[in-house]
Amino acid sequence: MTQDIETHETDVLVIGAGGAGLSAAISAAEQGADVAVVCKSLLGKAHTVMAEGGIAASLGNVEPADDWQAHFLDTMKGGWGLNDPTMAEIHAKESPERVRTLQEWGAIFDRTEDGDIHQRPFGGHRHDRLAHVGDRTGLELIRTLQDKAVAEGIDVYQECYVTNLLQTDDAVAGACGFWRQDGAPILFRAPAVILASGGLGKMYRISSNSWEYTADGHAMALRNGAELIDMAFVQFHPTGMVWPKSVQGTLVTEGVRGEGGILLNADGERFMFDYVPTEYEGSVAADEAEADRWVAGDEDARPPPELLTRDVVARAILNEVAEGRGSEHGGAYLDIANQRSADYIMQKLPAMVHQFRELAEIDITEEPMQVAPTCHYMMGGIRVDPETQETSVPGLYASGEVAGGLHGANRLGGNSLSDLLVFGNRAGVAAGEAVTGAETPQVDDSQVERYLAGLEAPFDTDPDRGVDPFDLHAELQAVMEEYVGIMRDEDRLSTGIERLESLQDRVENVRATGARTYNPGWEKCFAVENMILAGLAVAHAARAREESRGAHSRVDFPDPDEDWGNIELTVSMRDGEIHLDRDAVPEPRDELQEMLAADAGLEAEAE
Ligand SMILES: Cc1cc2nc3c(=O)[nH]c(=O)nc-3n(C[C@H](O)[C@H](O)[C@H](O)COP(=O)(O)OP(=O)(O)OC[C@H]3O[C@@H](n4cnc5c(N)ncnc54)[C@H](O)[C@@H]3O)c2cc1C
Repeated sequence: MTQDIETHETDVLVIGAGGAGLSAAISAAEQGADVAVVCKSLLGKAHTVMAEGGIAASLGNVEPADDWQAHFLDTMKGGWGLNDPTMAEIHAKESPERVRTLQEWGAIFDRTEDGDIHQRPFGGHRHDRLAHVGDRTGLELIRTLQDKAVAEGIDVYQECYVTNLLQTDDAVAGACGFWRQDGAPILFRAPAVILASGGLGKMYRISSNSWEYTADGHAMALRNGAELIDMAFVQFHPTGMVWPKSVQGTLVTEGVRGEGGILLNADGERFMFDYVPTEYEGSVAADEAEADRWVAGDEDARPPPELLTRDVVARAILNEVAEGRGSEHGGAYLDIANQRSADYIMQKLPAMVHQFRELAEIDITEEPMQVAPTCHYMMGGIRVDPETQETSVPGLYASGEVAGGLHGANRLGGNSLSDLLVFGNRAGVAAGEAVTGAETPQVDDSQVERYLAGLEAPFDTDPDRGVDPFDLHAELQAVMEEYVGIMRDEDRLSTGIERLESLQDRVENVRATGARTYNPGWEKCFAVENMILAGLAVAHAARAREESRGAHSRVDFPDPDEDWGNIELTVSMRDGEIHLDRDAVPEPRDELQEMLAADAGLEAEAE
């Protein structure tokens, strides 16, 4: 039976064709490896195409004072010190080169008057740092990488859903899944596998994420012995659409605020000035006059408080709503119409103009938008070696949103696209080098038989006990939103864990009906099981972390706690159960420590 399955052998198998997967595939192929990329959507449709604002890299084209040190310091500050310092250093140093390489491969960026790549300001970045293509940067990034990958002759298996990793006794051996088109199983044998499967935001009801974000990579890694870190840190972007309901959660790029957009409450007050945390007091404008000067290009003015980090702005909006000053549909007003000319808005934010016109029948060049927080990004993910991106399972690598470490407790805007380019490249190089001369691993039949039985199981479920996977997904989203959302406490999280455990019991009986051809119910059976497992990892880590830091807000522990200042929580599976360990975050090397201390000193003086 197992010998009848469509089987492919390759040196490096990349799961995911977003920015991270394609970067990794190109770099592995450049090492001479035979590479296959598998993705569950069409090539060119990965979530990365949705990225709007830009790629963070200290090119210094708009502000020559920018350098890798400044980018490193901003990333560490944004991550509340929980970032892996080696990853933050590598990321800051290598981002400019990766952006230039992308340009060499054909990416067309917006330009400065001198013809350099233009860079826009973004929250938490002290300099104008985001290389961008209007507000469609992800689309251009994917188009370029896709062209390059095709030119490299990389094999692509699209609309192919990977459900299981394969292992030898001590290493990864490949993966298997099924073609979405006809449900036929497919198997890949490979000595190196790179997980680049993106995030998990579809476990929340209000989410900016694409349908692909169902935690498949997180769950497969966990089941196969890898570890997840920083799972408490789910980023809620402050500005998702709130209206109409059908598109609730759709992202409104931070670029709107970067271009001068301001946040107002129902009383017309610019409330962000009231929410500047002490540690940011010296780094944002003191009043509206200074903020206006910054928008006008005054280099001595500090940026407006609307550009504080996402966690701060998201909590401020929620607080305004809670205190009765929310907008008509329960958010805040985001106004750029009164700050910039219609031509300027059209030129800098064309996708936003289009999005609001089409989805909400609002012309943002004339009236304000309404926005509220939406689940956006997962800072936590698979623990990797900072240099090579290899996980604790030999031969298994991870990069992009599915990997953890770089962003700590909170990611700065723009730092994901640069993460994909830098660490996708590193994973590809490391995997490509590691497989030189490696044999294709053998996979024992019992693993394949178990996988085939698992594929069939949803169709065999007794209809009397069968659970509808769509219902289960809706329940999961309600539980995550209510009990493991933005504002958390011990009671809610404990209830959330109980509810998630009961969903986990019920997922055993999840049922699919109909044929295997493009059967969304059948696909959902696997996705929902993965999301419940990853949801449990989030909830356990969030309950254990008794403090508030970055994106993790505990109402019962509202302040950061020094004792947690260098602790990352590691999630692993032991005997089928989630297990938590407290580990120390790696120490920055001496030079980085000195830089961090000096920067903290300067800020204290500025205050
Ligand atoms: C609306 C929006 C705007 C954003 N704007 C920015 C921005 O301006 N700047 C920035 O830095 N970040 C931005 N982000 C974040 C950034 O886009 C993502 O973090 C990033 O694109 C993730 O890339 P990735 O390569 O890790 O994953 P993805 O691009 O999602 O790729 C994942 C790939 O894995 C595949 N896959 C997943 N599961 C399976 C499976 N089981 N089997 C087979 N294939 C699978 C998918 O099909 C896909 O090809 C934005 C996010 C959103 C939602």
